[in-house]
Amino acid sequence: MRQLPDDRNSGTKRSNDSSSRDRELGLFCPITRRDLLQGVGIAVAGSMAAPLAALSKEAEFAPERAADYYPPTRTGLRGDHPGSYEVAHRRAWRGKKWGNPTDIDENYDLIVVGGGISGLAAAHYYRAAHKDARILILDNHDDFGGCAKRNEFQHAGERYLSMGGSGYLEHANYSDVTLGLLGEIGIDIERLSENQDLDFATHPFGMESSVYFDSDHFGRDQLMVGPLTPFTQTGPDDEYHWVKRVGELPISAAAQGQLKRFLTQRTDYLADVPDAQKMEALNKISYHDFLVKHAGLPEEAARIFQRYTAPIFGVGTDAVPALSGMGFGMPGVRGLGDFGRAMELEIQAAVDSHAGVSFPDGNATLPRLQVLKLIPGVSSAKSVEEVVSARFDYARLDAAGSPVRLRLNSTAVHVDSGDGGVAVTYVRGGRAYRARARDCVLACYNRMIPHLCPKLPEAQKEALDYGVKTPLVSTNVLLKNGKALEKLGSAGFYAAGRFHTMIFGYGKSLGDHHQDWDPKKPVALHMIAAPGTDVASGSMRERYREGREILEGMTFTDYEREIREHLAGMLAGGGFDSARDILAITVNRWPHGYSYERDPLHDPEWPAGQAPWEIGRQRFGRIAIASADAGGYSWVDCAIEQAHRAVGELVQSKPS
Ligand SMILES: Cc1cc2nc3c(=O)[nH]c(=O)nc-3n(C[C@H](O)[C@H](O)[C@H](O)COP(=O)(O)OP(=O)(O)OC[C@H]3O[C@@H](n4cnc5c(N)ncnc54)[C@H](O)[C@@H]3O)c2cc1C
Repeated sequence: MRQLPDDRNSGTKRSNDSSSRDRELGLFCPITRRDLLQGVGIAVAGSMAAPLAALSKEAEFAPERAADYYPPTRTGLRGDHPGSYEVAHRRAWRGKKWGNPTDIDENYDLIVVGGGISGLAAAHYYRAAHKDARILILDNHDDFGGCAKRNEFQHAGERYLSMGGSGYLEHANYSDVTLGLLGEIGIDIERLSENQDLDFATHPFGMESSVYFDSDHFGRDQLMVGPLTPFTQTGPDDEYHWVKRVGELPISAAAQGQLKRFLTQRTDYLADVPDAQKMEALNKISYHDFLVKHAGLPEEAARIFQRYTAPIFGVGTDAVPALSGMGFGMPGVRGLGDFGRAMELEIQAAVDSHAGVSFPDGNATLPRLQVLKLIPGVSSAKSVEEVVSARFDYARLDAAGSPVRLRLNSTAVHVDSGDGGVAVTYVRGGRAYRARARDCVLACYNRMIPHLCPKLPEAQKEALDYGVKTPLVSTNVLLKNGKALEKLGSAGFYAAGRFHTMIFGYGKSLGDHHQDWDPKKPVALHMIAAPGTDVASGSMRERYREGREILEGMTFTDYEREIREHLAGMLAGGGFDSARDILAITVNRWPHGYSYERDPLHDPEWPAGQAPWEIGRQRFGRIAIASADAGGYSWVDCAIEQAHRAVGELVQSKPS
């Protein structure tokens, strides 16, 4: 089987052979994957089946009040799930306008668009500045948290948690602003850091990491059990572990020899570049070009590394600067003379100072704590430990009389700032409503803002339109047990040719939630994919746009087929059977994933204050702009800091 997108585009009908393969893989087995009718509810039914006009006849649209409304347990296609994005796409792609919205009889001081970490932080800061402020938070998804979502599997009376997107708090360089907010919502980083094993990607459950070569891309199915990732891991002899294993690689003997030389020789492939300019040079050539054009590796050897950068950069090594590739743990520093030696020490120091905290549901614990602080009635949990196990009462998120209301399944389509404050039109259940407030924070995808605020200055709209988010897929598969992983001695994998490139077993315990490694019990396997990781051309922005289209064009069955085929090949040596051993699948699809960061290969070095996100985030009347997008840096601390800045701008400026 080739990579999914090619199959999809080939337009060929699936043959009888492939449908019998589907049966072998268990594609039609009754597992937990498609809860469209039980759980996803009206939002999905509305978007997929009923035309919006039909929905608008409903007097009241309030799926959150149903007793079984609990999005974390929904499986199937999640992330930007069906029902969450159609209204925004109609606005952005087709310029759809919703005339005559119903004015709602609610008074707010602040309306926040976006219920992710940044939007929730904006509400937090605004309440800190105005104690009795009344706040409405709107989000288009059926759950809050933005891309920090919780995935919850229920099986045989037990709960298995995993991250639906955002994974962990890498706090080594967090600012006082970020640490302050975390502390105020109950995250004591120092205390939680004790006994934290952040090595879940490379040594999950204390087992080795492996590299998987699949037959479709490398001619044979082969699992090389590590320690092999990151590639630069060395043994006591200071030699890369890979050196001893090169002979096993599914590439020609000549390519093996060249790779071995590359891994062992101390040389300087950029000898003609003075050391003082090497950093700049490495930022201007791709890692792939460094391997092929400078170190002289053949394509078949370079291909082994190609997709390793996907989980962080969303593209293959040919679109990632050589400097970033090496910083991310791929070899090359030993081929950069004295400069490389200094760089090696720096990379090691960064690895040694790496610090992080992760929760059983990844970073979803963070927005859960934020919501609990803003709307205390949503759960009786009192601490971070209790929040992990708590079931939130979604009916309380948008309760009349509450000073802070979080309205899910609601997409903002128009935001206007005038003398009397702001007016925000949003669509919920097919109907348009208008809410008014003194202030507004847009903590949503910044590229959407020109469509929400057409009156913004043209230069600002252009700047907001610049950054394209990274498309990503964050999949969780509940395996019947961990026996195959145990037999293989590995629970962390780099798949060098498949759609999902990084795969690891995930299970954390905190408070009353126990999810320790037990091979006899179900195990959550986390899989990360980025489309468009093959060698291609174009800037990151272009590739992200293409990748987004690939993700949006794939059905759940496309994802499921790929996952089953992948696991069948990768875990075969452990006795794994895709038809027998998969209990549930949740595919979190994030066509708009990480915030855009400068692409050193294609973007200029903008002078201070002139980066597109800096121009784009200027306050406009009573509208301030937040989200990690506004900081040009895609991590949690940026989302918090941008909320802090945006609210500060509103607080410091007087309404006209
Ligand atoms: C797969 C993945 C893994 C990650 N892992 C990590 C990690 O391990 N560590 C880390 O520090 N960071 C990680 N990040 C990044 C980090 O999670 C984000 O920087 C942060 O969560 C962004 O928060 P935000 O509120 O700015 O944006 P978002 O989380 O995107 O929230 C914005 C919300 O606004 C909503 N919205 C958009 N338009 C509208 C509209 N018109 N009306 C209503 N609502 C709207 C969006 O749908 C979304 O729910 C990860 C991101 C992804 C995608």
